[in-house]
Amino acid sequence: MHNSFSKKDFYNELQERFPEVEFLLDEPMKKHTTFRIGGPADIYVEPSISQMVPLITFLKESSVPYIVIGNGSNLLVSDDGIEGVVISFGKSAAEISINQDTAEITVEAGAMLSSVANRAADAGLTGLEFASGIPGSIGGAVYMNAGAYGGEMKDVITTVQILREDGQIETVPVDKLDLSYRHSALMNSSGIVIGATLQLAKGNKDEIKATIDDIRQKRIEKQPLNFPSAGSTFKRPEGYFAGKLIDDSGLRGYTVGGAQVSEKHCGFVVNKSDATASDVLTLMKNVDQIVYEKFGVHLTPEVRIIGRNVN
Ligand SMILES: Cc1cc2nc3c(=O)[nH]c(=O)nc-3n(C[C@H](O)[C@H](O)[C@H](O)COP(=O)(O)OP(=O)(O)OC[C@H]3O[C@@H](n4cnc5c(N)ncnc54)[C@H](O)[C@@H]3O)c2cc1C
Repeated sequence: MHNSFSKKDFYNELQERFPEVEFLLDEPMKKHTTFRIGGPADIYVEPSISQMVPLITFLKESSVPYIVIGNGSNLLVSDDGIEGVVISFGKSAAEISINQDTAEITVEAGAMLSSVANRAADAGLTGLEFASGIPGSIGGAVYMNAGAYGGEMKDVITTVQILREDGQIETVPVDKLDLSYRHSALMNSSGIVIGATLQLAKGNKDEIKATIDDIRQKRIEKQPLNFPSAGSTFKRPEGYFAGKLIDDSGLRGYTVGGAQVSEKHCGFVVNKSDATASDVLTLMKNVDQIVYEKFGVHLTPEVRIIGRNVN
């Protein structure tokens, strides 16, 4: 990071250089995560796609660290906050264009999966029903290869537009992204997803909508949607289900501070009452240890743990 980094000075510098962009100083990340947990980002910004390239170039030149997030639905952010700049793709980078003839959808990274799935349904395009209840953005869904109910992003993506650190935008075919269960090559690179093209198929509008409704209903029945969470806390260990291992270890409802293994679905940790990241991390460590002692299987986090003093 550049030697003279003072967040206030850098914030002023950013405002001067990018007068059309709104930067927030010491922005609480609990406002931007579905877990409702997380200390302040030094600087927080929601740029449009066109503002992104000069911004990244400037951050690189200034050697100030940054992280790109989407809807914050798979994040556990440190109580000590995040150093540098948090860039969130939100409403200003969420365009969706549909070509009904070719069944192709082009989306910007900030578009929400639910919006894209609903637009596809309205256009009578099938293939994205699985994603309708995943509360993430396209960027986060590509990065995580999000999936549910037998589908995953890998099945529908054809290309992804990636902004590289040198400011170049590359169109990368899906087979170069190494997408597998909750994994992508992006996890080992600094590439930023700015958009994607999805290939769906023509289908029956009523059937597509019925499938979406059915999946939503299943989620309401099975998932603790009345408490803040980041979805499944742990990945599925090969040959097992994390939730079942946790349940069979007697940990349903296990609580640390304000964090709890959901009573409804043991695969979820929920923020029961003002949980801190430290509560969740202690709970996750203890759960892993108890499950390991009982079954000899380690649980690895699916949630991305970010920020100061957590790694
Ligand atoms: C109630 C609930 C249910 C859920 N159910 C599911 C489910 O069924 N299946 C499933 O797979 N997930 C599920 N999730 C988890 C989560 O919604 C997904 O992982 C989703 O894809 C995350 O998208 P996001 O935009 O919120 O990403 P974030 O949480 O903001 O970020 C996740 C990761 O992606 C990176 N990232 C985000 N955007 C970009 C970008 N533009 N470029 C580069 N990197 C980026 C971030 O740095 C971070 O490492 C659930 C979560 C909740 C709260």
